[in-house]
Amino acid sequence: MGAFLDKPRTEKHNLHAEGNGVRYGLSSMQGWRVEMEDAHTAVLGLPAPGMADWSFFAVYDGHAGSRVANYCAKHLLEHIMGASLGQAGPDAPASDSAAPAAPTVETVKAGIRTGFLKIDEHMRSFSDLRNGMDRSGSTAVGILLSPEHFFFINCGDSRAVLYRNSHVGFSTLDHKPCNPRERERIQNAGGSVMIQRVNGSLAVSRALGDFDYKCVDGKGPTEQLVSPEPEVFEVVRAPEHDQFVVLACDGIWDVMSNEELCEFVKSRLEVSDDLETVCNEVVDTCLHKGSRDNMSVVLVCLPNGPKVSEEAVRKDAELNKYLESRVEEMLSRAGEDGFPDLVAVMRNLSTDIGMPSLPPGGGLASKRSVIEAVYNRLNPYREEDGSAAELEYHW
Ligand code: MN
Repeated sequence: MGAFLDKPRTEKHNLHAEGNGVRYGLSSMQGWRVEMEDAHTAVLGLPAPGMADWSFFAVYDGHAGSRVANYCAKHLLEHIMGASLGQAGPDAPASDSAAPAAPTVETVKAGIRTGFLKIDEHMRSFSDLRNGMDRSGSTAVGILLSPEHFFFINCGDSRAVLYRNSHVGFSTLDHKPCNPRERERIQNAGGSVMIQRVNGSLAVSRALGDFDYKCVDGKGPTEQLVSPEPEVFEVVRAPEHDQFVVLACDGIWDVMSNEELCEFVKSRLEVSDDLETVCNEVVDTCLHKGSRDNMSVVLVCLPNGPKVSEEAVRKDAELNKYLESRVEEMLSRAGEDGFPDLVAVMRNLSTDIGMPSLPPGGGLASKRSVIEAVYNRLNPYREEDGSAAELEYHW
């Protein structure tokens, strides 16, 4: 468990690109934690025969250090590719044409599983991970996107969600030690689940790395206290209905449900087509909802994703204007009770009955930066580093 800073680090790492019929954007932020242990991968076009129109995206949430998360972000895909994805499966028709055959669904699923087991075995040979100098581990959640399928991949408690037909169409299931299947494996390996943790310590039951939890004699790699085995779910793409996929670590999901995050993302995509901006808004909103963890989000927009609408843009501008004028009004009336702090301003706004509707899933927290900007501009007592605004983060 990491320690916390006096105030959150809110600088963001961003990336975006377009290709293979999709657009993606991502944002990651350290937040309140002393270390940044999240990592991510985004690759458009896989370097294997027949897979130039495939893509891969993943989020890794490291713990006890960033070593395993960073290594996986760089090398997991190549382990998956090396583990049979590069070749057509046994069921693939013999190829006498020039176009190489894409691998079958079963070959892909087996390749993903083997890739996870291989990279874990490989990392185990690193001297710092072997001798316990580095005890880090990492979750991994990803999607491998082919023209026909989504392959949702999960190992740990990060999560991927598909938004389809304006609903949560699919989500991965977190690997928590309390899940019956996970608990059974842990107990069979001689461990126990206490305070919802493996041996009272680790909050996640599947992960890469974490070799302290993978040395039970006589048990295979997928029978240990912590297993590196991913769950892989294939979902046939429905281009008419598929809107976007979100991958995120628990720093996001701790404060937003699948539905809330999807509704929020959808509503922001109607206001901006800049995916980095949308991802940054997700991360900031989660910070303002009280997340104390590192945060990473990857947003993959599919061809039928939400489009910017003039009406949504106008409504958002009206909302911002309303909030600004309310804050100005509150601060101009500041008198006998002294100058209100930002917490008082937020509290006041949260009970404002004249408020136009706030972004679904995001609520007032998603407008905190708008509010804070006016507040800071008008606050005569503002400290240079803006620390007056860092008092409380729960909305
Ligand atoms: Mn986390």
